[in-house]
Amino acid sequence: MPIYWDRLNWQEYRELVPKKIDTVILPVGTIEAHGATNLATDVVIPLKIAEEIADAVQAMIAPPVYYGVTRTLYPYPGSLTVKPETFEAYLTELLHSMAEQGMKKIVVLNGHGGNNDELKNAAFSTGRKFKTKVAVIHWWMMDPDLVKQIYKTEGGHAAVDETAMVLAADETLVKKELYDEKMSYRYQDGIYVYPIPGTIIINKDGTGGPDFDPEKAKIYLDKVCEKIRDFLLDVFDMWEKGGKG
Ligand SMILES: [Zn+2]
Repeated sequence: MPIYWDRLNWQEYRELVPKKIDTVILPVGTIEAHGATNLATDVVIPLKIAEEIADAVQAMIAPPVYYGVTRTLYPYPGSLTVKPETFEAYLTELLHSMAEQGMKKIVVLNGHGGNNDELKNAAFSTGRKFKTKVAVIHWWMMDPDLVKQIYKTEGGHAAVDETAMVLAADETLVKKELYDEKMSYRYQDGIYVYPIPGTIIINKDGTGGPDFDPEKAKIYLDKVCEKIRDFLLDVFDMWEKGGKG
């Protein structure tokens, strides 16, 4: 059973941190339109991964940051955004605060590509200022081959990979009846369109369409969690040894 930061009493926290637990996972995302899944898809996924791996990496789970930097999907109904500088300042202060509260390792599990640069800056600032070590993981970039192995196609925004992860986390959040093939827009380097004309964004024509099979989705979730867990355990081990192998 994972330990949730927000459910602890302050005296329980004092007993645990840093003596028994010195690692925290912070799920981060944004609120934006996603083909057939919910507006908080980018939070649901990292929170689910955190719940799956927390015990194995001996971490507690911090309350997620739901609001991030939504960019080209902002004009769609229900999308929310904050300015990049606001997000970066907020995340930086939050990570500093976690370090001040005794966390020696912070894992930021990110679910949204629009947050990447700001999270890197927040992590660097925290690592420089404190002895805390920080890993930022953009889960969908961890191993893009996994989606190819299981689904024989590529992933994308609100495509087969994100839809599978939400399906595995909570199938009531996936609305198959609201999916339409025409939602897919093929992203091209060198072109910027605002708003982006589809809420499913793929990299090659004819790839990435969602698959609504819950069993396959569970297999994909397990593989993603396994990758991230093993990666973190390796990094923790190397940090422990001071980079000496
Ligand atoms: Zn997303």
